[in-house]
Amino acid sequence: MNDLSRGIEWDRFHFKSALKSVLDSGFVEKGFNHAAFAAELASYLGVSKSIGVVSGIDALKLSSKAAGPQGRNLVLTAANAGGYTSTAAKRADFNTVFVDVEKGSLCMSAETIDAGLIDDVGVVLVTHLYGNFTDIQEIVEQCDERGIQVVEDCAESIGARRESRFAGSVGDFAAISFYLTKNLGAIGDGGAVVTTDAELTSKVRQLSQNGGDSKCSVELPGGLNSQLDAHQAALLTVRLPLLDSFDERRYEIVGRYAAAAVGTSITLMPADTDSHVAHLAVARSANRERAQQALRQANDMTDVYLPVPYHWQPGFGSSAVSLPITILAFREVFSLPCFPELMEEKILTVCDAIGTLA
Ligand SMILES: *Cc1c(COP(=O)(O)O)cnc(C)c1O
Repeated sequence: MNDLSRGIEWDRFHFKSALKSVLDSGFVEKGFNHAAFAAELASYLGVSKSIGVVSGIDALKLSSKAAGPQGRNLVLTAANAGGYTSTAAKRADFNTVFVDVEKGSLCMSAETIDAGLIDDVGVVLVTHLYGNFTDIQEIVEQCDERGIQVVEDCAESIGARRESRFAGSVGDFAAISFYLTKNLGAIGDGGAVVTTDAELTSKVRQLSQNGGDSKCSVELPGGLNSQLDAHQAALLTVRLPLLDSFDERRYEIVGRYAAAAVGTSITLMPADTDSHVAHLAVARSANRERAQQALRQANDMTDVYLPVPYHWQPGFGSSAVSLPITILAFREVFSLPCFPELMEEKILTVCDAIGTLA
């Protein structure tokens, strides 16, 4: 489904020189490379600050912790986005309330969260799923009125934009992941919190340094040690200018599958908007079993990335809630290969196999 070796081969030279420059600088933690990448990323996304952390999940946790208004112990999130938001909420000492998603985008919307916005909700965590920049402006307005803060989960949507506004620049915070399979991947793990609010920035910074600004000072409870490694930052600085071309290639691949799927029994998740960066190529079928079987017979890869909705996972335990759209999607969605280095001949075989699904 994803051949990382091709990307890593390309990165070999850049990774080696990144590592060398970091070792030569003497600042193997934080230092110039760490700060330079943070500045580049903030400028690319059009936000005022970016803070490099260890992973996307740390970015979500630190954002939720810094966002939570006093005395409100609930986080509202979806149950179809990998469980990251729920895990982060738990680690930031919130309880999670799951809400349903919208039929077309499979993302939360102003409508799907409305009934859930009760007084105890402090934070709403919205995932821009599969690379889609979901329209969260309305959610932000709805939450602002109630003193609730919005964290965008942009782990799958870095680079997605609408009218030159980027995913990650609308809510109070955004969390980004540089895990190696993401659209902007490190060789290993990495993440960032971005925000436009200076006060929130310093809170996140303190929380990412065990809760304080200087050594052994603890101003905020519940911090952790989470810094993006300087060598990953140096590599990401080289890769960032290439992100748009990676995203375009992914988008093009999904477009090819979508064209092949016209008139068949499967549909591709909407890539008909240019505010989509196609992190995954996700198809839907009322008869997923049969569709996947046909693809496997044609020797093509297919997978179901998230087989269980998160309100049914024992670790999250909220199975009583009713999320009909989420559950239907869990039965119908499956993924097709989609990464920038995917070979042309492979795309053609996948398209041929899709064409047989009458
Ligand atoms: C990958 C991912 C994360 C977590 O990122 P890590 O860097 O792996 O911790 C969070 N949310 C979504 C939607 C993801 O796909």
